[in-house]
Amino acid sequence: MNCHAKVISIKELTHDVKEIALQLINPPKISFKAGQYIAIEVTEMREGKARQNNRPYSIVSPPEEDRVIRVCVNLVAGGPGSTTLHRLRIGEELSFLHPFGYFTIKSEATSSLLFVATGTGIAPIRSMIEHLLHQGIERPMTLFWGLRSERDLYYQEDFEALSQKYPFLKIITSLSQPTSNWQGDKGRVTEQLSRKKITVENLEAYLCGNMAMIREVRTMLLDQGMTKRAIHFEKFY
Ligand SMILES: Cc1cc2nc3c(=O)[nH]c(=O)nc-3n(C[C@H](O)[C@H](O)[C@H](O)COP(=O)(O)OP(=O)(O)OC[C@H]3O[C@@H](n4cnc5c(N)ncnc54)[C@H](O)[C@@H]3O)c2cc1C
Repeated sequence: MNCHAKVISIKELTHDVKEIALQLINPPKISFKAGQYIAIEVTEMREGKARQNNRPYSIVSPPEEDRVIRVCVNLVAGGPGSTTLHRLRIGEELSFLHPFGYFTIKSEATSSLLFVATGTGIAPIRSMIEHLLHQGIERPMTLFWGLRSERDLYYQEDFEALSQKYPFLKIITSLSQPTSNWQGDKGRVTEQLSRKKITVENLEAYLCGNMAMIREVRTMLLDQGMTKRAIHFEKFY
């Protein structure tokens, strides 16, 4: 379905990530599952000609918020989609196609949940975690989030507050290239995963971000005895 929305707020989360809140105009609200994405219409220049195209962006807000949805967008140098979205101003309108995707929580399961994200791969996972908490689900949840350095950190206070409130939620943010002042976890998420020795029995995993991370983590989990069916992933690039 074609949707039309207005930008009502823009948060500069880091030097290259913005969170954009879109208020639905037509239809006035949408229903979606946590983890799904929308395809935003962008104009691309090819061989000197402007062409309409779509770029997928995961919804970072939970489905309980159906009139205003949020996306978080990493600026890719020279990329038409992310550049268009980073140039948006409050009050501007845009079109997108209705939620897509199967990277969603299998709600009937009672297993523990492992989430692994790199960069803006956090978007669908944040929506899933908030949705599960809204529903009062108390499955043990562990999130490993990989970012590069201190200047790339965002959502840290929000996740800290959630893990304080819900003791069954554990968040490990790890920096692959921190400065010498960084006191937190260091290294790529794959290194963190092997260091923390997670138990794979009765575990369901959700991985999102770049292909290299997904491939590595998936292999690691399969080697430890997880089945393919229990590992879900969404590749951004
Ligand atoms: C299902 C799905 C959901 C997605 N959700 C998000 C999201 O929530 N937030 C988001 O920022 N992006 C997301 N992406 C990526 C997004 O759709 C675009 O690919 C990205 O914004 C680059 O588009 P572009 O037109 O600016 O550059 P393009 O010219 O299309 O891409 C240039 C290159 O940028 C790299 N790239 C793509 N995405 C990223 C990224 N996120 N970080 C760093 N490098 C990247 C790739 O190497 C790509 O080849 C998602 C992709 C998919 C498939």
